[in-house]
Amino acid sequence: MKLTVLGCSGSMPGPDSPAAGYLVEHEGFRVVLDLGNGAFGALQRHVAPTEVDAIVLSHLHADHCIDLTSYYVDLRYGPDRPRRRIRLIGPAGTRDRLAAAYDPLARKLDLQQWFDFGTPANGELGPFAVAFAPVNHPVPAYAIRLSVDGRSLAYSGDTGESADLVALAGEADLFLCEATFAADEPYVPDLHLTGQQAGEHAAKAGAKRLVVTHVPPWGSRDVAVAEAAAGFGAPVEAASPGAVFEV
Ligand SMILES: [Zn+2]
Ligand SMILES: [Zn+2]
Repeated sequence: MKLTVLGCSGSMPGPDSPAAGYLVEHEGFRVVLDLGNGAFGALQRHVAPTEVDAIVLSHLHADHCIDLTSYYVDLRYGPDRPRRRIRLIGPAGTRDRLAAAYDPLARKLDLQQWFDFGTPANGELGPFAVAFAPVNHPVPAYAIRLSVDGRSLAYSGDTGESADLVALAGEADLFLCEATFAADEPYVPDLHLTGQQAGEHAAKAGAKRLVVTHVPPWGSRDVAVAEAAAGFGAPVEAASPGAVFEV
């Protein structure tokens, strides 16, 4: 499978990257993982939005889902008609979250005409096996694993320290893990990981390759990589906008 980073800026868009968004493709089947601020713009560089097969949201913080409002505009008013409804898997309340974000008057929207809503459940997603694990964040949040042809990608979403995340990422070929906090910042438990913790989670999971992401605009990807490498005990890469990883 191929992973393309649409955006990787943590907690908000930054000067060089949209917020969280990732495109995963295998044999023409396209899955978008998260769609935060600005990620829908970046998506259009890689694929027509109507050609996406499924969107999977880790959680409903704005930096992971708010560009669904723009997706709806495109599907509803754009010139291209989708061949079918786009599967949209997210935590319970995703439809209401999108409706509220889109329309301040809370009018009834035809969201279900465009999106086929579902909640996280292990199963099949096109050619992929998809698995979820609840993680440790102030709102319901999930880590996501996609597997196909004996290869697997695990994505942390946003989380503090989590044994469930370690289990979900077990022996993943690529572990895309958040590393929001730097070691010299005040640490807030049950919210995000440090680079060191991301590395330790990857090591415990036996992940084969670690890519850190969700570094905020005030942070440093180089610092996150160095701290994560110390925890992982092996070289680590950082997500960057437009980066492509073959898994
Ligand atoms: Zn976030
Ligand atoms: Zn979050």
